[in-house]
Amino acid sequence: MERVDYLIVGAGFAGSVLAERLHSIGKKVLVIEKRDHIGGNSFDYHDEAEVLVHKYGPHYFRTEYEEVKSYLSRFTEWIPHEYIIKASIKERLYSFPINRNTLNQFFGLSLKNEEEAKEFLDSKKEKIADPKNAEEQVLALAGKEIYEAFFKNYTIKQWGIHPTDLDASITARIPIRTNTDERYFGTSFQAMPKEGYHKIFENMLKDIPLKLNTDFNQVKEKIGYKKLIYTGPIDAFFNYRFGKLPYRSLHFIFKTLDKEYFQDYSQVNYPNEHDYTRIVEIKHATHQKCPKTTIVEEYPKDEGEPFYPIPRKQNKELYKQYQKVAEKLKNTYFIGRLAQYKYINMDQTVKSALDLFEKLKDED
Ligand SMILES: Cc1cc2nc3c(=O)[nH]c(=O)nc-3n(C[C@H](O)[C@H](O)[C@H](O)COP(=O)(O)OP(=O)(O)OC[C@H]3O[C@@H](n4cnc5c(N)ncnc54)[C@H](O)[C@@H]3O)c2cc1C
Repeated sequence: MERVDYLIVGAGFAGSVLAERLHSIGKKVLVIEKRDHIGGNSFDYHDEAEVLVHKYGPHYFRTEYEEVKSYLSRFTEWIPHEYIIKASIKERLYSFPINRNTLNQFFGLSLKNEEEAKEFLDSKKEKIADPKNAEEQVLALAGKEIYEAFFKNYTIKQWGIHPTDLDASITARIPIRTNTDERYFGTSFQAMPKEGYHKIFENMLKDIPLKLNTDFNQVKEKIGYKKLIYTGPIDAFFNYRFGKLPYRSLHFIFKTLDKEYFQDYSQVNYPNEHDYTRIVEIKHATHQKCPKTTIVEEYPKDEGEPFYPIPRKQNKELYKQYQKVAEKLKNTYFIGRLAQYKYINMDQTVKSALDLFEKLKDED
């Protein structure tokens, strides 16, 4: 039987960063990945029309962590890009997240400065001191019209659940601005990897033993290891003993078109019209020059690949049961979005992997 210091399950950011770091200090590492590719959900590839596409939804890299930026910069150069997203309502495009331009467009106003915008929002917002769910969160910040046009149906489409039954954190992620900042994120470093995400993973894992198409459950008895780093779903690890953790999934329809661009932005959201939530044309963010384009329509669904943990109280409690038994296991580390049942961005994933490495590096 093979025996390694670390068996690492999953070749997304959590697994790959730890594999690279542990390998760099001489640990014997083996990475197994059940898919036929590395990169986890950040995986990208060139399709038949040579367009670089993101297989599992658009991945917009951004970070405030200097440490994460400098670590990843060992494996890639960057193309600076500030992501711009629009919301399409009755065939008109609005700035999104909501900012002063959106208010002027949507309400037919000419608010000139932050004070005027704030005053206007104050006149619209509902008096809810402590928003308890995703609906109250938006009503408390921007009022009914904004909630109904931009948030209500989008949230229902995205989650299959009414906003009153979802945590306030869902809508709190999206700011309501009084300035005219058109960027989707306020983060100071926003960029795409110059040769795509897949290249980052190739560079990270280049000298590290890796088995693709290998599911942990099928090989766990056959591989000897001292320690386990597990980045798969925590409920699956424990054979769903407390029940299945609910996830929202997505169905992607890719369409290649014989024109250079389909839309003017990398993402257009459709809060109310169509069954898809958004159309992504990642070319705008990758800055790729190519005569054809590929767009992706995203249709949320219940079954399928686990993408978004559903942020509700009962799900957090179910997760806590798993977390409790996980903490008791020796030499086993649960890390990443599936193992921690938490929506985390790529930079947060890299940061927590680097932090775990700091703890592990001095152990035997
Ligand atoms: C639709 C979507 C859009 C996103 N957009 C952004 C964005 O714009 N910006 C951003 O920063 N973040 C974004 N994210 C989040 C980003 O994908 C995560 O931060 C990142 O993927 C987390 O890395 P990870 O290693 O924890 O998980 P993953 O990337 O999911 O990797 C886990 C890996 O483990 C493998 N695995 C699971 N179970 C097993 C098993 N039993 N045996 C072997 N292998 C197994 C899986 O196949 C997978 O490859 C988005 C996520 C989604 C779903």
